[in-house]
Amino acid sequence: MNKFDLQNTAQNIVKSIRSDPLDLYPIEHCHRSPVKWAGKIAMVKHPNNKQAHFVGLQTCKKWHCPVCAAHLMAIRSNEIQTMITRHMKADSGNTIIMLTITTPHCRRDSLVDLLKLQDSSIAWMKNQKSKKINTYKDLMTEIESVGELFVREVVWSNRSGWNPHRHVLLFCKYQTDSDLEKLQKELTELFIKAYRKQGGKIPKISDFRQHSIKLTQYSGDNAHTRYIARYLSKSAFTYFPSNNGSMTPFALLESSRHDNEKSMQYAALYLEFFNLQRLSMVRASPGLKKKFGIVDKTDTEAIEQSISDKMVYIDDITPYMSTILKHRLFGKIRQYSATMKPAEMLAMIKKYEYAA
Ligand SMILES: [Zn+2]
Repeated sequence: MNKFDLQNTAQNIVKSIRSDPLDLYPIEHCHRSPVKWAGKIAMVKHPNNKQAHFVGLQTCKKWHCPVCAAHLMAIRSNEIQTMITRHMKADSGNTIIMLTITTPHCRRDSLVDLLKLQDSSIAWMKNQKSKKINTYKDLMTEIESVGELFVREVVWSNRSGWNPHRHVLLFCKYQTDSDLEKLQKELTELFIKAYRKQGGKIPKISDFRQHSIKLTQYSGDNAHTRYIARYLSKSAFTYFPSNNGSMTPFALLESSRHDNEKSMQYAALYLEFFNLQRLSMVRASPGLKKKFGIVDKTDTEAIEQSISDKMVYIDDITPYMSTILKHRLFGKIRQYSATMKPAEMLAMIKKYEYAA
């Protein structure tokens, strides 16, 4: 099981909903079609990285693609870790608070509706300018937040359907337990107001108060901050159901590969996620990255530059492309490239050339 196999499954699933036989989705070209005018397809390696990459092949750079999402998440989680480290080092009173925002959800709800309501409620909460109560901006000023960054997590479970939620990292000053409690209360009341304004129904207010807004403070401990970056990057894209049975879109893809009565249902659920073409999964508030000396790049720029930066040429694989695609060798090549020499890898590919 590797991300290229998973990508192949995704490509087969999206093919089934395409109306025009010639108008392929970008994910269908990803690691399959050569870049126009590129000429060669080559295997390259980053000196710090053990595994090979491929240049000259199209990549879709989308979060719904198992191959590109893993690449994007690796880039973003590196950035997050750098930002956290720099923030913590800048002042001993600095801290990171993780704000988790969840909204009510059940099996009947479609993912797109849940996200629309959640996103518009959060936007309303952040922009409202009431003079009567503390606004979101007031609260952020109180904790001396210099900015925030969110990681979106989208999971599905058989029991409660889709559960999209956000983990927001607040780059701020250390808060005492009572300050934190007060912040939690005020944010919760603000969010209740926002959610109702956007047409959200709250079946049980005590549940909403208990679950919708959660705050966790990570103090100066390094292990803690490393944990956040790792937690965020892993939890969003694991291939397996978690202990409580919730599944990421890629766990749904993986489960759809198994031939059982639920395979069609899992494929349909993955498509719900796939159809959210422009969903941003990781985003920092304006100017925050710059503050920590990180160049703000779009997902497309981030992937393009990470491949073109300092890559070392290994070998031309253009002549073997049909063999590689036929036997789906990308995953194997990447796996072996960590330990094999280029000549051994080419020999490995060649072995498949005459295989059935
Ligand atoms: Zn891709």
